[in-house]
Amino acid sequence: MCIDLARPLPINPTKMQAALRRWYAKAARDFPWRRKRDPYGIVVAEFMLQQTQAATVTPYYERWLATWPDFNALATASAEAVMGRWAGLGYYNRARHLHSLAKTIVARAALPQTVEEWRALPGVGPYTAAAIASQACGQPAAAVDGNVVRVLARLTKERRVWAGGAEARAHFQTLAETLLDRTRPGRHNEALMELGATVCQPRRPQCGACPWQRWCGAAQQGRPEEFPKMAPRSTVAKKIARLWVRQGATILLRKIPAQSRRLAGFYELPEPDGAEEEAIVARSEPVYRAHRAISRERIEESIFRLDAAALASAVLASQAERQWVEVAELERVPIPGPHRRWILLLLDRESGPGPVNPRG
Ligand code: SF4
Repeated sequence: MCIDLARPLPINPTKMQAALRRWYAKAARDFPWRRKRDPYGIVVAEFMLQQTQAATVTPYYERWLATWPDFNALATASAEAVMGRWAGLGYYNRARHLHSLAKTIVARAALPQTVEEWRALPGVGPYTAAAIASQACGQPAAAVDGNVVRVLARLTKERRVWAGGAEARAHFQTLAETLLDRTRPGRHNEALMELGATVCQPRRPQCGACPWQRWCGAAQQGRPEEFPKMAPRSTVAKKIARLWVRQGATILLRKIPAQSRRLAGFYELPEPDGAEEEAIVARSEPVYRAHRAISRERIEESIFRLDAAALASAVLASQAERQWVEVAELERVPIPGPHRRWILLLLDRESGPGPVNPRG
């Protein structure tokens, strides 16, 4: 049959579910969390996949499952071990919440079933609750993430401009529920997210390979990249100075206090503190400069070398959070990914000449 793409067909949930199912049976990528379909593995994967790409998550997921294979094992782990295992994945609140969730489930001795029950647990938002409830418990709940928003916005050629992702996800929840295959909700959610991640990509969607092309308004119009329409986000520029202080086989790090909202218990390169350190930084050139974005902040971090012999006593006396850490122990110390990269790069640079990328 020849399909007339001049006009998309009206939405037909039954046919669309079948088309998506057939496509997913052939196109699904192989990830470890798709092989082992137990609730614990699904929960760990969903937490790790929030804000992190699947290819990055894979080795972390495998190491995590090898260390803590179920909720009981994770519930008895120390907070330090949990944060250390998560180190490098970023957004560390996810690790804290996952640990707390495991303790709650073990204490209750019962697995939550409904979206509402999952939603009540730490770190579980509407999307994660629906994804876990549908995949782990077979609940008929549509999981709407950024990938699903993109597919549905293109399908419907929705022209509204969204202030943020949460607003767009809430809008498309009803349509996602309409399209949901209630006999296989977990598999359907997975397939739709996979479609958004691999075919209906932000730039250059592969409409010719899409099982929903015949129903898609944006594909028929010819400019699917225009959807969804998101309002431009304002950004905030920020500059941070950090210190590189070495003394023999140790480096100076700051332990982030337990009451901190971000990265509590982790070690980082310290910021200058006090007039003496700030004066040295003001008249020095950084040994390394890195650029990164965290949410709406565009951060430039400059690292300055300080002479340990001149400053060590004052530095240590004034800063209870600072500690000398053995270089040989760094692997066992929880350090956020960017800081670990900078430390290794500076150690490498000091061990001998060689080209170094001046931008992080
Ligand atoms: Fe996306 Fe193209 Fe499929 Fe439409 S046809 S959902 S734009 S990949």
